[in-house]
Amino acid sequence: MPERLFVCTPSKLASFTDCPRRYRYAYVDRPAPPKGPPWAHNSLGASVHTTLRNWYALPADRRRPETLPTLLKGTWVREGYRDEAQERAVFRRALEWLESYVETLDPDVDPVGVERVVAVKTGVLAFNGRADRIDSRPGPDGPQLVIVDYKTGRTGLDTDDARGSQALALYAYAAERVFRQPCRRVELHHLPSATVAAHEHTVESLARQVTRAEETARDIMAAERAVADGTDPDEAFPVSPSTLCGWCDYRRTCPAGVEAPARDAWSAVERALLPPQEGPAAQD
Ligand code: SF4
Repeated sequence: MPERLFVCTPSKLASFTDCPRRYRYAYVDRPAPPKGPPWAHNSLGASVHTTLRNWYALPADRRRPETLPTLLKGTWVREGYRDEAQERAVFRRALEWLESYVETLDPDVDPVGVERVVAVKTGVLAFNGRADRIDSRPGPDGPQLVIVDYKTGRTGLDTDDARGSQALALYAYAAERVFRQPCRRVELHHLPSATVAAHEHTVESLARQVTRAEETARDIMAAERAVADGTDPDEAFPVSPSTLCGWCDYRRTCPAGVEAPARDAWSAVERALLPPQEGPAAQD
């Protein structure tokens, strides 16, 4: 019998790579353990992403900065903030980011996809993921697709982040096959610092990222098989404590997590209100 394909998204693979125990809590244990309260930085990221999606849904002649306050208000997610004053301050900051960002966009150019799901199968994976944006831009040999990922975390990103992102590489690999057009360039658009970190993949570098993803999928399937064969789930999906524990949704369930310093749901957005060069990284 051929082995079944491992159905996955980039976040599912990243979850196991970051911490097998977190993967188990999120994808294996049923009922799943309770998550902690919603994070304000997730609310902020979702609000900004949806605003940009809705901006592109407008007719080209209405894609103007003046529409942004209404768009952002309409999509604003309120969960996780410390209080209304903090929420209002973050709303204003997010609006500033968006106003600067749309100045860099040509309203008359429609992307190939906005929050577009791309899917591909390999010998091991059935991958699907939602790319923030897929552009078509002129290249030396004709139009090329570009994967664009919006970031709203505190810290700027560099070309190493773009090159190393497995998610972006898998989107590019899948988009190339879905649209039958070359897709080698991946970009991280960091709205708080108004910077773009880019990387040009090659056929080989995309293949390497796919191979790594397949290795992760094999590890996950082996751990799941081990549990089915009687291995203690705690052993098959070990904890992997790190600085991420403070931000983990399962910190209160996990024996390693309860020792990690607790973060307030609004800690990351508090730092988002500082000038870009100060403070540690936050999630997007
Ligand atoms: S708290 Fe840390 S060790 Fe525990 S599941 Fe979360 S990331 Fe893993």
